[in-house]
Amino acid sequence: MKKKLDMLEELQEVDQRIDARKAAQNELQAELNGINHGVDASREEVVVLESNLAHLESEKVGLEATHSAELENIARSETNMKEIKTNKEFQAVGREITAAKKQVADIEEQLLQKIGQIEEVSRDLAAKQSLCEELAENSAQRIVAKQAEIDKIQSEIDADTLRRESIVKVVPASLVKRFTILREQRRGQALAFARDGYCMGCNMHLPPQLYNNLYKYEELLTCPHCQRILILKLEQQ
Ligand SMILES: [Zn+2]
Repeated sequence: MKKKLDMLEELQEVDQRIDARKAAQNELQAELNGINHGVDASREEVVVLESNLAHLESEKVGLEATHSAELENIARSETNMKEIKTNKEFQAVGREITAAKKQVADIEEQLLQKIGQIEEVSRDLAAKQSLCEELAENSAQRIVAKQAEIDKIQSEIDADTLRRESIVKVVPASLVKRFTILREQRRGQALAFARDGYCMGCNMHLPPQLYNNLYKYEELLTCPHCQRILILKLEQQ
């Protein structure tokens, strides 16, 4: 029985170690996700600015096309004017030209605004691109380091998992089952140390006869209060 209890004790240690390592691994994974998310968000900002810029450029091209079309209209009207015979027609075409020239001035004003906006967005984009590159470079190193930590912990978990399998093979299946159920019910602790007449799992006083029986190692004994399997520990560890 002593040997079985020793095996269970090691099983609990291995399980707790695996739990702690998995928790550490999850934390690292969350940090890694955070780093990746930061890089993605920065790239997304660059993409948005690039698309803003492309939109402004295409609006500029549209304005330029309207501008040259209006200029052509004016030139055509001015040519036509030379062939006009009546004063009435002359005045009508004159009004058309005046309106077209006003239109051209408006378009030129809009073009200037558009060019200003393009310059502003181009500056923002260049700044954001260089920030993004810097972030990606720094993050790449951090990502490699975090991944290496995660992999190292995984190899420790794998080693512990092998150790766990070898223990489970030699402990009677019924005992492993009992241990597993208890572990789930008792927040990862199926075993409790007994010391000075107390269960260290729930800090309750153990019946003296039960405590004395622990010394005999004849049977598996459990705490009547928290139901954990008791292991005698005389010394503080
Ligand atoms: Zn207890």
